Amino acid sequence: MKTYRIAAIPGDGIGSEVISAGVEALNACAKRDGGFAFAFDHFDWGSERYKKTGAFMPDNGRDLIRKHDAILFGSAGVPDVPDHVTLWGLRLAICQPFDQYANVRPTRILPGIVSPLRNVSGPELDWVIVRENSEGEYAGVGGRVHRGLPEEAATDVSMFTRAGVARIMRFAFALARSRPRKFLTVVTKSNAQRHAMVMWDEIAAEVAREFPDVTWDKMLVDAMTMRMTLKPETLDTIVATNLHADILSDLAAALAGSLGIAPTANLNPERTFPSMFEPIHGSAFDIIGKGIANPIGTFWSSVMMLEHLGEPSAAARLMRAIEKVTADKSLHTPDLGGKARTADVTKAVCDALAGDNQAN
Ligand code: NAD
Ligand code: MN
Repeated sequence: MKTYRIAAIPGDGIGSEVISAGVEALNACAKRDGGFAFAFDHFDWGSERYKKTGAFMPDNGRDLIRKHDAILFGSAGVPDVPDHVTLWGLRLAICQPFDQYANVRPTRILPGIVSPLRNVSGPELDWVIVRENSEGEYAGVGGRVHRGLPEEAATDVSMFTRAGVARIMRFAFALARSRPRKFLTVVTKSNAQRHAMVMWDEIAAEVAREFPDVTWDKMLVDAMTMRMTLKPETLDTIVATNLHADILSDLAAALAGSLGIAPTANLNPERTFPSMFEPIHGSAFDIIGKGIANPIGTFWSSVMMLEHLGEPSAAARLMRAIEKVTADKSLHTPDLGGKARTADVTKAVCDALAGDNQAN
């Protein structure tokens, strides 16, 4: 029997609560499937380790997880360490060297969940946002001079490469082609940003010619926020830069009902390195240790992990279990207006998996 080796990195805050729920659901999924198993290795990397040792992960950290089939990540961030130190010390220290350049964020309104948008209840909102995850505005290029002096200056330079833009466009067009509507929206800001964003548009048009069966359009990022809220049914697959998609995908998560539900995959499509799966949300300081963190974002990320591992029927089964549970309002956690606890939701998903009689 195939055993998938998964590196579990809960990180900070509610990370450990949602990751242990995710491990439970994935094991239940493997048990129900019968064709594969999981072997989880747990890593205590995160801010507590940083405060004790000065590093979020050991020097050879990436070597310890390089051969794993996938990474399941919780969250990184605590109140007493600056967020940029944490982000670059842990999440980006994995994403960037492992070349996880395609960040994929599906958004749908699951059964039983109410969107804050009037007149939107389900089929009108079914998107996948593809975020360029390796360069652009978050390339880390820039610097500060004259620190603390009146003439202090600082730059964050966006860095776009032809290779980087072409590969994310190809990924996005291919993903759009795999979905029923075969429709891609390319988000840009080439009116105000006249160098890199113009190249971004040009490369989009070039790559589009390789995908004659995909229809596409172009949208300025500011106007995109309006289209997402006022005409959600006109969107399907979306590709945007690191910064633009970061912002748009939080909006998407809110429109779909709660940040606690939204999933993410950080993919290295060539599979040279392991890919990483994580809920979109952060450490949620206000609910740490209360046992009420919504584990659905982690479960849905686990569905994406199963798809990536090549277990589509197990992925579909876990997604069915999630939808069965969200449809039952007595199983909603407080972020969805309910009273259920993390453990209740997790048990219900595991029970739904065990009781799922569909063959595939
Ligand atoms: P957050 O996502 O942690 O919390 C925002 C709000 O959403 C809070 O009210 C929180 O209780 C709620 N929430 C989030 N996830 C939830 C869940 N699963 N169930 C129920 N409620 C949930 O965002 P924030 O407050 O901006 O950030 C807190 C910390 O997390 C910061 O240090 C930030 O840098 C970090 N962060 C990390 C990641 C990541 O590791 N990928 C992502 C976002 C934020
Ligand atoms: Mn973000």
